[in-house]
Order: sequence, then structure tokens, then C-alpha cells
Amino acid sequence: MTEHPGWSAESALIHGGTQRTDAGPVVPPPALTSIFVSAGNPGSNPGYARNGNPTWAAVENSLGAMEQAQAVLFSSGQAASMALMLALAAGRDRIVLPRDGYFNARVLAARLRPHGAGPVPVDLQDLAEVERELSRGPAVLWAESPTNPLLRVADLAALARLAAAASAPMIVDNTVATGLLQQPLDLGAVASLCSLTKSAAGHSDLIMGAVLTRDPALLAELRSWRTLGGGIAGPMESWLLLRSLKTLPLRIERQSATALRLATYLSGHPRVTAVHYPGTCAPTLAAAAAQMPKGFGPLLSFEVAGDAAAADAVVAAARLIVPATSFGGAETTWERRGRWPGEDAPESLIRLSAGLEPADDLIADIEQSLG
Ligand code: PLP
Repeated sequence: MTEHPGWSAESALIHGGTQRTDAGPVVPPPALTSIFVSAGNPGSNPGYARNGNPTWAAVENSLGAMEQAQAVLFSSGQAASMALMLALAAGRDRIVLPRDGYFNARVLAARLRPHGAGPVPVDLQDLAEVERELSRGPAVLWAESPTNPLLRVADLAALARLAAAASAPMIVDNTVATGLLQQPLDLGAVASLCSLTKSAAGHSDLIMGAVLTRDPALLAELRSWRTLGGGIAGPMESWLLLRSLKTLPLRIERQSATALRLATYLSGHPRVTAVHYPGTCAPTLAAAAAQMPKGFGPLLSFEVAGDAAAADAVVAAARLIVPATSFGGAETTWERRGRWPGEDAPESLIRLSAGLEPADDLIADIEQSLG
């Protein structure tokens, strides 16, 4: 695979998945095979496609460039999370993670309790609380910033210092920002997790995930869990992802600009009681700007006056914005987040993912939906 010495992440996302050969295809086809020709000692030949696949290797090469790291591709963000928890929780008894982060990380950590470590929810903005919980026993610090769905920003470098002092590996769920807007490995994390289902794939048509790391031992563990657990990505989906990654920088730049405009507009609306967006939240704005210098991402949330039914009515009234979950797609979507069992977001909180439509069209649709 082509290395990318000195290339920007933006160039690597376009060229990193291609091995240029004389008269070869500029866009290589997906390796749609379950077996590879191999006799004798397989060496670096995967032999069997649960061990490896050239299309994954191409995606991993592109993804790794975002954080000068090695990437391990999985069939979903949750498959990536499970491999990472299994790899890091061995010999540790607590997974310290945000109370307001992605709820299935807490659910997954709870399901792993019989295997050793269980979830310990904390407020990542409360460094004293994090330090206290890290000191209570061998732990993993499972950070997330900005969090989903409250978009709260944590000081990742400060958290990394606390984790190092407690000999706890820190990982960051970087799904909302992606490695383009934020580089947790530079801030002290041992691994950066991303649900590629969101902005990386960006077209609401596939599910995939990855872990990025610079630690060779963790890399080997993750690959081993992938091979043994079988949470592998299909070559066709991987090929689609490779295509998406080429336009990720353009999409996320536009989506970040639109989300900032929508958050600013919503902050002045009389029916909106709170807006959550890293680019408009005054107390953490400086930390967010330092950690995410290229933009604050596509995701925001806001609370409307009234109860769950009032928020449901707003969501249902949209004509352009699609009522749907997930985020990072080309189409703007929104949902009342508390409708999911296990999610404890405020009952009238609507999470909105800014798509690629002109901001003026979206503001007009929000205006008529809020009534
Ligand atoms: N992490 C975050 C922050 C998420 O929002 C999600 C999905 O919504 C995941 C992880 C899990 O990813 P996937 O749905 O690709 O399994």
C-alpha cells in the first residue's frame, strides 16, 4: 500500500487507498473473495478473508493518515468498541466513561461486567471526580468528546494526564469530530474510536467502525479480536467507504459551518430553551476551539419548551429535514433522542445532524416546524 509521508490527511484520504502501478486502475475494484491463493506458510498472505482483505487494507491506510496511526477496520462502531473493551479491560476492573456519552457504550460495558470490568459513569468535565474514580482500582478511561447527544466538550489533554498518573489507558470515542477535526492520539489517548457509519461514510448507507492506535501491542490485540470474533467489514462496503473518505473533508467543513449557523439561529428562537453545540457553548468554547481547530462538527442538539410530545410534534412537522436517527449523512436528520430505551437525554431534546443542504433552506424548515 502507498505510504503517505508528509501528505496532509486530506490528500491521504484521496490517494492513500490506492497503490499506483503502471497501467493499473486508478480506482481498484473491491476484493470480493473469501479465500486467497496460498500454499505452504501463509506469511503475510491472509489466506482466508476473515484474517485480512486488500480493500480493508486500503481503507485502513487512508483512515490511519488522519492521526498518523494504524487503523483496524470493523463491521460497525460497536464491533470496534467491543474489541477495544475486550483488549483493554483484561486485568482491569472498571471502565470509567461519561454519564452523558453514547449510551450503548455504557450498555456494552455493563454486559462485559461478568468478564471482569464494569462501567463507572462520571462527568468528564469534573476532573476531580474522574481522578477519584481512576484511583479506586485498575481502570480504563473511556472518554468521549464532544459527547453524543449533549455535545459536551471534555479537556482531553487534562484527562490523559489523569489517566497516565493512574496507569489507566485512555481511549477517546472520536465519532462526532472524526480524526479530521480532532486528533486524540496527539492529546495522549492510546486509541481513537470512530463509528464510520456517521460522517466518514457520510451517505446514510452503510455501517462500519474503526480503531486508530500507535501502540503495536494494542494493534495486534485488536486484529486478533477481529479475526477471532469475526466482526469484519464486507469488501463491497469497504470499497464504498473508500469512495466516501475522499469527500469527507469537504462534507465535514460544510456541515460544521451549517451546524454553527443553525445553533446560532436556534439560540435566538423563543420556543428553544437550550442549545448544545461545541461552537456556541461559552464555558467550553476555548477548549473546543483548541481541540477542534478546523470546525465543531455536524451534530447539535436543542431543547424545546414543553414535553416529549411537543418535541415529537416539531420533528414530525419537518418537510425537508428527515426524521431519522444517526448523523453525518448528506441529508439533514433529526430525532427526539429520548425516544430510545436506555438513553437518558432530557425528554424534549432534539438532536440534529446538519447535512449538505443550504443553511437557509434548513432554517426555513426549522422555522415552520417550530410553528
Ligand atoms: N459511538 C458513538 C458516539 C455513536 O454515536 C455510535 C452510534 O450511534 C457508535 C459509537 C456506534 O457505532 P455503530 O452504530 O456504527 O455501531
